[in-house]
Amino acid sequence: MPRDPALDDTPAADLSKDEWRSLLEPAEFAILRESGTERPGTGRYLNLEAAGAYHCAGCGNKLYGAEHKFHSGCGWPSFFQEVEPDALVTVSDTSHGMTRTEMRCAGCDGHLGHIFPDAPQTPTGIRHCVNGTALIFVPAGEDVRDVLRAHREE
Ligand SMILES: [Zn+2]
Repeated sequence: MPRDPALDDTPAADLSKDEWRSLLEPAEFAILRESGTERPGTGRYLNLEAAGAYHCAGCGNKLYGAEHKFHSGCGWPSFFQEVEPDALVTVSDTSHGMTRTEMRCAGCDGHLGHIFPDAPQTPTGIRHCVNGTALIFVPAGEDVRDVLRAHREE
């Protein structure tokens, strides 16, 4: 069994790039570990409205509640706030000739997406524009480890 920060007690920071590569789906690896972006409209969970929570697909860290999700029309799953203030970290991203606020998972430093101040229809006014591929949805009442274990074996 490969070491898995989401399923055993391996600190996420201990994992090498090759270990992440063997653990994650290719698309998950490209986004979480190489700061890629899924094409708009193609990511999982875009239109999901079920009760539950969204966790990091890399390390299982809880990031968002379904109650924080809203339809932004931007083509990526959108949330107006994280579940806890320390769930994610933000960094200034100046790639592609733009200055944006990048979000990374506080549990594994995986790339999630960007934050934009363009959601006046929400309680916070901000949009967390998240790659659905970076997330794993855990239905209400289910355990993230069970869901991720099944996902890893798909
Ligand atoms: Zn993570």
